[in-house]
Amino acid sequence: MNILVSGAGIAGLACAIELGTRGHDVTVVEYARHLRLSGTPIDIRGDAIEAVDRMGLLAKIQKQRVRMSELTQFVDSGGEPVARIPMAEISDSDDDIELLREDLVRILADALPDTATIRFGDSIEALTDGDGGVDVRFASGRTGRYDLVLGADGQHSAVRRLVFGPEEDYHRHLGVYFALADHPGEARSEGANAIYNVPRRMAGIFRYAGKAVAVFQFRSEPIDYDHRDLDAQKKILVDAFAGHRSWRIPELLEVARADPGFYFTSASQIHLPSWYRGRVVLVGDAGYCPAFLSGRGTSLALTGARFLAEELQRCGHDHTAAFARYEARQRPYVTFAQDRVHSGRDRMLPTTWAAIAARNKALQAPGTGAP
Ligand SMILES: Cc1cc2nc3c(=O)[nH]c(=O)nc-3n(C[C@H](O)[C@H](O)[C@H](O)COP(=O)(O)OP(=O)(O)OC[C@H]3O[C@@H](n4cnc5c(N)ncnc54)[C@H](O)[C@@H]3O)c2cc1C
Repeated sequence: MNILVSGAGIAGLACAIELGTRGHDVTVVEYARHLRLSGTPIDIRGDAIEAVDRMGLLAKIQKQRVRMSELTQFVDSGGEPVARIPMAEISDSDDDIELLREDLVRILADALPDTATIRFGDSIEALTDGDGGVDVRFASGRTGRYDLVLGADGQHSAVRRLVFGPEEDYHRHLGVYFALADHPGEARSEGANAIYNVPRRMAGIFRYAGKAVAVFQFRSEPIDYDHRDLDAQKKILVDAFAGHRSWRIPELLEVARADPGFYFTSASQIHLPSWYRGRVVLVGDAGYCPAFLSGRGTSLALTGARFLAEELQRCGHDHTAAFARYEARQRPYVTFAQDRVHSGRDRMLPTTWAAIAARNKALQAPGTGAP
């Protein structure tokens, strides 16, 4: 089949591999002009490990493994460690693989078969799902007809909006925003990874593989902003920390202001009653974003790509049956991931100084230097 995939993130690349290696012709359109490589380390868990193994990529992925969460501590305003991240609670098993998002994106992109190509700097502008295929018009002015269209274009999916309706119909805000910026000045520093809290907010520095990033989270009601306007997003972050000057908060906000690759997102989930309509189907965050707080978005993208490709293979040209079977297999994983976000939020963003102190007390561990 001739298949169009919107988005060259984890889900889109995994779909291109899974479908391309099964003999389909796959075109991936990515609105950015290059692969988007930013991001903190992400996790591959549970059956997603088997999915990358079957793609033949497990050894490469294992080689890039990092242990960032294990090396992260909560600190006080003087930078002294006061508590550790409870690894046993956030990790399902010792088999979980933590690696840089950019390494996973590169490994997947390098593994694309000849039957799959990525077209950067373009996106779907309109699509009409007819009897024999889907007619697509792109922002570039190009047009094309495809047997199937996959929306793998993330939390703010354009395919979802065009086919299923506006984002607000499916979006559940979890009350938290997340920002990430490169901190080149810290890249060579040897310090431990640190997270510092003030009520309802956290700022941190993570170092890995010769890089350092500033990370931020804060609680907030939904904020209306343009997902492609970086300056507006930087201003939201700076405003959220207004009046907070303890630890290294002012320095980290400066780092965020200066970074052209700044990344900003909300902790939001996407809930749809069904992930397919006609010849169009959603994969990854586009269909079932569990929110970064779950630590499972990447794993869902990988199992989703696997199940979809397997069911299309099993069902031949009956794409409706294949989509239904994909959804039936993937739904339990999504429900599990989406149900598991709240404890992470409460631990990372206590709402009062007393709650921060109580969290630190509960998570004290030998060697933290905690009183
Ligand atoms: C730059 C970036 C940084 C991230 N950092 C983190 C992080 O630090 N921690 C974390 O937990 N998760 C992070 N994520 C999200 C995480 O990658 C996903 O939750 C998870 O891997 C599921 O992947 P996905 O492919 O469904 O979505 P994504 O990884 O978000 O990929 C979606 C892709 O679609 C592209 N796209 C969006 N709209 C369009 C459009 N209209 N047309 C064509 N292409 C489009 C995007 O540019 C992106 O490449 C990040 C995502 C991105 C894009």
